[in-house]
Amino acid sequence: MSGIYIHIPFCRKACLYCDFHFSTHLLRKKELVDTLCIELQQRKNYLEEKNIETIYFGGGTPSTLDMIEVAQILNTIYTHFSVTKNPEITFEINPEDAHFDYLQELKTAGVNRLSVGLQSFNDAELKWFNRAHTAQQSVACIKKAQQVGFQNISIDLIYGSKFQTPENWMHTLQTAFSLSVQHLSSYNLTVETKTQLQHRIAQKKEQTISNELSAQLFDILMMEAEKNGFFQYEISNFCTPNFMSLHNSRYWQGFWYLGVGPSAHSFNGVSRRYNVKSNAQYMQAFKENKKYFEEEILTTENKYNEYILTRLRTHKGCNIEEIRCLFGEKYARYFLNEIQKQGAFIQTQESHFCLTKQGKHFADGIASDLFYLS
Ligand code: SF4
Repeated sequence: MSGIYIHIPFCRKACLYCDFHFSTHLLRKKELVDTLCIELQQRKNYLEEKNIETIYFGGGTPSTLDMIEVAQILNTIYTHFSVTKNPEITFEINPEDAHFDYLQELKTAGVNRLSVGLQSFNDAELKWFNRAHTAQQSVACIKKAQQVGFQNISIDLIYGSKFQTPENWMHTLQTAFSLSVQHLSSYNLTVETKTQLQHRIAQKKEQTISNELSAQLFDILMMEAEKNGFFQYEISNFCTPNFMSLHNSRYWQGFWYLGVGPSAHSFNGVSRRYNVKSNAQYMQAFKENKKYFEEEILTTENKYNEYILTRLRTHKGCNIEEIRCLFGEKYARYFLNEIQKQGAFIQTQESHFCLTKQGKHFADGIASDLFYLS
């Protein structure tokens, strides 16, 4: 089993904090979709005829695509790959694009999971983020999607901005859960390089909030999610029973996936490929039949470190038997030796080593302590 990720590198506006690859110039969108379909055709053997179980339209903003473009991409996939009978097809949509007809057409095209980039229910905060929608549009988007018949809806929320207090974050979460969605992804606002936010902080026009407040907001998130019947199956991802993102879960479990489009990554068990992060260079490379990606052959050490980084964040954690089987006795012994030093941050369940609530605050730091560096 495997998945396909399609990166749509266009957005209507550049959000303050975002470091994903995208362009706000949509003029060459059709040409890019054509190129993306050529990439799909050319790489039809990348996954060695494994069945495609999940298809994920991410970005960027996939809802900048018109329905002809969505259908073109899906038809190309169905023509060149072996897709399972009921694949999970996720489509990231921004609230400003969620017109009733568009949602209906997405559903008819086979999309069965929506991921809505709400981010906040506070208009002042949305404006500060430079989002292209209002809180009212966000709520309307969910309602329309439900009317159309989507039964698997995920929303994104950001915490850790200067607008947030524990009280209004709690209120935000209560609003989110009152929408009867099945999935929530919530990330701490981080200052990424080359973003507007970083630029403004460097100019002393903005400040970051304290780590203590951020940690408090994360605790509230975990508490409210649990109270509302949401299961934390990955540090930043929560779902109602049976509504985990299959695509992302497979990714965290080390399944193979093909990523197409500028900046997309792919993994086939042996290597990782990183497509060029430029729309123009990507399209030009196909015209001239030139290379448009970098490839990294993964060593056992790379694979072990990736395993630690992704699995530790999930509810199942790291499994010592799996480590022994995948990477050998040397790595198993190293892991056992290092994990013992993590004390109250780790709990064990049979052969699984998982983060405790306290440990979830330090997941990346703990993972790097467990990395094998020769
Ligand atoms: S957060 Fe989403 S909508 Fe905003 S710039 Fe990044 S990819 Fe585009």
